[in-house]
Amino acid sequence: MIETILTLEQTELLQQLEVVSRRYQKRDQRIERIQDHYRREKAGFNGEKQLDYYLKLTSFSQACQLASLRLRRGDHYFQMDRLILTRAACYVIEVKHLSGHVSFNKARQFIQLYNGNERSFPDPLTQAQLQSNQLAMLLSDLGYAQRPIHPIVVFSHDNVILNDSEPEDCILIQQLPERLTVLNQRYEVITTFNQIRKLANHLKQLHVRKQEDVLTRFDIDFSEIQVGVHCRHCKKGLVKRVHGTWKCPICEMKDDDAHIDALIDYRKLISRYITNKQARYFLKVDSPYTIRRLLLKAQLPFQGKGKQTRYDLNPLV
Ligand SMILES: [Zn+2]
Repeated sequence: MIETILTLEQTELLQQLEVVSRRYQKRDQRIERIQDHYRREKAGFNGEKQLDYYLKLTSFSQACQLASLRLRRGDHYFQMDRLILTRAACYVIEVKHLSGHVSFNKARQFIQLYNGNERSFPDPLTQAQLQSNQLAMLLSDLGYAQRPIHPIVVFSHDNVILNDSEPEDCILIQQLPERLTVLNQRYEVITTFNQIRKLANHLKQLHVRKQEDVLTRFDIDFSEIQVGVHCRHCKKGLVKRVHGTWKCPICEMKDDDAHIDALIDYRKLISRYITNKQARYFLKVDSPYTIRRLLLKAQLPFQGKGKQTRYDLNPLV
């Protein structure tokens, strides 16, 4: 069993795209771009999620893994879809969730042929190799002894077709357990599991999650974001505050905690902190007393006094 040191989580980008695709109401080009981007991010995430399953099938007993590890070296960052550390070597895994025929041409461009359309992509094996080089330099900066770092590209889509002439480190996700076993036998054991775990935890501490601001990126003003609390049952209506609870005008369901999801949206898209006034705007509630009660009932930590009081939404996510 591979020990997970850094678990796979949805990126901020994916979380924000999901909120915006629900809360941006104009039917214009921007929403098409957002939804298109959201679908691709989500597919990529699902591809990476499949790795968890296949990595459980490896015969490794003393190994660690880190998902979406993002490290800084000098002025720039590099990110690895998955890093696996064994007592013999490190494996940098790049996941591609593409369907159709994929192949390399003579110029070593990476080509996807899908529904008769050809698209070229940056060569994923070169990408994984560059990440491996950066990792090697970072480990050396940190004073770690040199160790083999092996890049692998994994294709996770069910409908992908690889050419026979693909490099041997471009494989289908189903082949990964076998490939890792074979490779790991080639390398000599050079360290102990304790050392591996120590290194993995050190790298986890250096992990920098990527910050996103989708509203700026897609040039959307906060005022264009639909406010209000959605019904969690029919997902259609905006619920209204009636007799101390939320009631949906469409399905008529009552829900005491419907506002929690809206606060989570606010946390993902706007800010970690919210004031009473901001919450009144976002939840579409006029009464500051009602808002205060809801925020206190959610047991959110708060700081400041009076109108300056701001509540920390982090415990909700
Ligand atoms: Zn409803």
